[in-house]
Amino acid sequence: MAGAPLALGVDLGGTKIAAALLDEDGRTLWQARWATPQGDYAATLATVQTAVQAAHQAAEGRPFSIGCGTPGTQTAAGLMKNCNSTCLIGRPLQADLMALLGQPVVLANDANCLALSEATDGAGAGAGVVFAVILGTGAGAGIAVHGRVLSGPNGLAGEWGHNPLPWGTPGEDPPWACYCGQRHCVESYVSGSGLAQDHRHVNGEAIAGEAIVQRAAAGDAACAATLERHARRLARALAAIVNLLDPDVIVLGGGLSRMVHLYERVPAQWGQWVFAAGGHEPVHTQLLASVHGDASGVRGAAWIGRQAARG
Ligand SMILES: [Zn+2]
Repeated sequence: MAGAPLALGVDLGGTKIAAALLDEDGRTLWQARWATPQGDYAATLATVQTAVQAAHQAAEGRPFSIGCGTPGTQTAAGLMKNCNSTCLIGRPLQADLMALLGQPVVLANDANCLALSEATDGAGAGAGVVFAVILGTGAGAGIAVHGRVLSGPNGLAGEWGHNPLPWGTPGEDPPWACYCGQRHCVESYVSGSGLAQDHRHVNGEAIAGEAIVQRAAAGDAACAATLERHARRLARALAAIVNLLDPDVIVLGGGLSRMVHLYERVPAQWGQWVFAAGGHEPVHTQLLASVHGDASGVRGAAWIGRQAARG
């Protein structure tokens, strides 16, 4: 609708900075992307500024809110932490962006962007509680409740990737530690790097996740067994989420969300660990693939910025 407020979403990723301008109905009016300057904080800020200037041109003078999806989260003091783009760590990113751009900017981590994007008009549209997982190099997750991101005083709501994998079996502990300093993290098993490390641990063969999927499809029994261990562990990890949060929908995003067997093998097994004293009932939570895929980062950031602008 002409004249309705616009929302700019910026997805500040490790390799690319993507931006999209959405209208009230979620239609993309303009989008563009730039390479992320590697290891250079000042150049990263300048690239976001370039993106916002390009959006202003595309908006032809109409105002827009700005939401920016980032790796990691902000401390109470406004400094970035837990970022895999390490040049952001310890930097006052939100304050610096607002000073540079001269308008409010809301930050949100990429998993929260996925959760809100899918809860707004994606796989979780209309659902009360959405738990969204990014299964990529790592395993981040976010929560949207009735169309709003659940954050929390530590900015950590949903960060289940660094809880221990539940219902372990003797000898299952991986010989590798998680980068967070703990062992036995969910992320160490269910992420793409966890999948590859588990295959190497069991079979002594270092191949990437994509190759494991391709070879399993071609009939390789060892690769098929790796995928089944992974799916079963994801089922255990998500059963704990069902017990804690009981979401209506669990959405998978990230590279591993394209592994279609997960949408059959995980729900087929998670009932074994979902709390059911006295007998198992069907689990009513749905496990669904992200509808917006890689665009969830910019879309969720745009919606978070719009919500903040409206209060
Ligand atoms: Zn960890």
